[in-house]
Amino acid sequence: AITRKVTLDYERQPYRRCGRSGLLLPAVSLGLWHNFGEGKPVESQRAILHKALDLGITHFDLADRYGPPIGAAEAAFGRIFPASLRDEVVVTTKGSNPMWDGPYGKGNSRKHLLATLDRSLTRLGLDHVDIFYLHRDDEDTPLEEQAATLDHMVRTGRVLYAGVSNFSPERTAEIARLLRGLGTPLLVHQPPYSLLNRGIEDRLLGVLEAEGAGCVVYSPLAQGLLTDRYLDGIPADSRAAEGRFLTADRVTPEVLAFVRALAGIAAGRGQTVAQLALAWALRDPRVTSVLVGASSPEQLEANVAAVDNLAFTDDELAAIDRAAKE
Ligand code: NDP
Repeated sequence: AITRKVTLDYERQPYRRCGRSGLLLPAVSLGLWHNFGEGKPVESQRAILHKALDLGITHFDLADRYGPPIGAAEAAFGRIFPASLRDEVVVTTKGSNPMWDGPYGKGNSRKHLLATLDRSLTRLGLDHVDIFYLHRDDEDTPLEEQAATLDHMVRTGRVLYAGVSNFSPERTAEIARLLRGLGTPLLVHQPPYSLLNRGIEDRLLGVLEAEGAGCVVYSPLAQGLLTDRYLDGIPADSRAAEGRFLTADRVTPEVLAFVRALAGIAAGRGQTVAQLALAWALRDPRVTSVLVGASSPEQLEANVAAVDNLAFTDDELAAIDRAAKE
């Protein structure tokens, strides 16, 4: 393969503070849930990762399970990412979801989490990740054990910062209290958030602000629904055609009508629907970063261009809310 010197463009997008921590994250970050498993040529994976660096993306979101098969995305990242840039980026992983058979293969016990983290580090070829997330809550494991495990990961140098994902507002406040007591503050929560899923506005964002934690939101394009991808049917190479996590029945006439209404508002802002959706998710300063997926470098480049117009007028926001209710 032809290798070229890859550098980061730190001027392309703003870096936003993650809660009240010392850590800055780019407004638009890249997730490797899709497009880094089997069936995706390594050249395509490399092109997306290199484009991300060109676009000032310093934050890469992974999890132990991402593939398929399980672990493939971490292994791909480990193979492709230039080791010389390690200290210029934030690499995350997560644990909790099923990884292997038996009682220690899943969940948030200390037993499972420390093992899955070590396997992640091996696949990534790293001696530490920057953020480790509890991928989901585990009501059967005491929250004290979950917090103590995150604290242990940080103290043993395998992890720099602690995060949670998909936790309820109440349990987030509770684990934040436990972590503060241990001296390892909760850095960040990772919930879903988009124009089609506004649940975090009710309480979670308030809890995170009170705790000083950041908020890195996932699926801000609703897996591609909030783009022009499905306006003329379901393309063969789309996530809805693949049907594993986004099924064709989610491409409803209502969603398409909403996207068409958004397209009109976006055009007035000089944006695409996807760019409007990302800028909208970033309008609240409590949202630190939007985690996008991309099946091509072109999609990623288009998405990062959302940062060129992040300001909304009250009229635009009202028009978006009206379109959402129709
Ligand atoms: P998005 O909502 O950004 O969806 C990404 C998909 O949308 C792409 O794969 C592509 O689909 C389509 N798309 C992206 N940009 C464009 C564009 N400009 N025009 C047209 N279509 C576009 O995010 P994801 O659902 O991929 O989630 C992002 C990340 O969030 C994940 O990689 C993961 O890191 C994290 N995540 C975390 C979860 C958790 O439980 N903590 C759960 C889910 C995600 P196509 O393939 O059709 O081209």
